Amino acid sequence: SSKWARVVAILKEFEEKCGTPTSKLMQVADAMTVEMHAGLASEGGSKLKMLISYVDNLPTGDEEGVFYALDLGGTNFRVLRVQLGGKDGGIVDQEFSEVSIPPHLMVGTSDALFDYIAAELAKFVAQEGQKFHLPPGRQRELGFTFSFPVMQTSISSGTLIRWTKGFSIDDTVGQDVVAELAEAMERQGVDMQVSALVNDTIGTLAGGRYSNKDVLIAVIMGTGTNAAYVERAQAIPKWHGPPPKSGEMVINMEWGNFRSSHLPLTEYDHALDAESLNPSEQIFEKLTSGMYLGEIVRKVLCKLAEEAALFGDIVPPKLRTSFILRTPDMSAMHHDTSSDLRVVGKKLKDILEISNTSLKTRRVVVELCNIVATRGARLAAAGILGVLKKMGRDTLRDGETQKTVIAMDGGLYEHYTEYRKCLENTLNELLGEEVSQSIVFEHSNDGSGIGAALLAASHSKYL
Ligand code: ADP
Ligand code: MG
Repeated sequence: SSKWARVVAILKEFEEKCGTPTSKLMQVADAMTVEMHAGLASEGGSKLKMLISYVDNLPTGDEEGVFYALDLGGTNFRVLRVQLGGKDGGIVDQEFSEVSIPPHLMVGTSDALFDYIAAELAKFVAQEGQKFHLPPGRQRELGFTFSFPVMQTSISSGTLIRWTKGFSIDDTVGQDVVAELAEAMERQGVDMQVSALVNDTIGTLAGGRYSNKDVLIAVIMGTGTNAAYVERAQAIPKWHGPPPKSGEMVINMEWGNFRSSHLPLTEYDHALDAESLNPSEQIFEKLTSGMYLGEIVRKVLCKLAEEAALFGDIVPPKLRTSFILRTPDMSAMHHDTSSDLRVVGKKLKDILEISNTSLKTRRVVVELCNIVATRGARLAAAGILGVLKKMGRDTLRDGETQKTVIAMDGGLYEHYTEYRKCLENTLNELLGEEVSQSIVFEHSNDGSGIGAALLAASHSKYL
């Protein structure tokens, strides 16, 4: 029928516009490398901020004592404490608690957000048991994982550049987020020193390195996306501080803000961006990360309903609600292996109030999820290739068998299997069989929190 011809035509056009052939991915990777150089050359030299983390030494395994971490990155925040065993002792004990951020606090005032966090921290500290040993007379210390772009001024201070991922609190921008937290802790009666301020990518890199010395890159695919890696201090022209003893500095790329004319943007992406809290920012993030993938699918479904009557003569009203289709639901539909695609049917009914969908319609939905996830995952892989190129690890030097381990974390990577497989396969495809043997993906489960605690330990005021 003409309806199906129209559906197929819209889908096909979308698929073409989302195309990520190898040649395009190579251009994206090269553009990423170029922007990395520019961002390292001068402040404001690129859309990539290439932020200096003040971490010039990653954990060694010698860290010892009880340390706290607080991880604020998106929808949830976590508090944790670890007892570190010192040389070869590893992590003796760890406990955590996770709380979701009430949405009104994401767009309220700085004090309200930080008071909420500090109050949760106070409750958690009150539950510290016998397994954790704080030497008498010592103040507790904390690593603060804060996963938004921050201009660091030292290992334990930094000002917020801007919010991302649905947060929008004007009075925090330009403030030292450690001071904001410290003041809230004082108001809430928490006696603790913030010894390290890190991004989740830096935390993941640190946590990954603690368990595997070949970890050189960390990539987060969660609500948003970002990457960090170990750079030679010599290769950072904009660094005017004292040269680090190690000769290295960890860089927080803030790659979510990457953009390039080579990125395959469609009308749906332009609309999503225009309607977002941060128009024309975080374009790479809007193509690849968990906050947005489901919303892109919804937008195309809406078009299919409007212009090809995919769900009948009227457009299902729920389909017009922004962000109603979340990426975990998209992922569940994409992974539906039942012969009648009953998970897809159920999701359409429960979330969008569209009942009695035909198998043919459900297949369209799965195909759409596949197109959106594939584009995102392949672009993420191209981003990683760009980092490997910058590090000179995209080729094998004669006779060398250097390993490069990439610590991966984030809910999207962890739970969206098709996305993860596509990302990993694409990187292997781009690197070729031989080189890809030297690149290892490692899931660093909650490395970012533990990493922050480890960095608090290695920057302890008692050392
Ligand atoms: P954050 O990025 O907020 O610190 P996470 O790393 O836990 O937190 O990532 C959470 C994000 O991961 C969610 O916003 C969602 O987009 C994505 N996600 C979580 N579960 C799934 C799932 N089952 N399938 C696909 N994506 C998921
Ligand atoms: Mg996180």
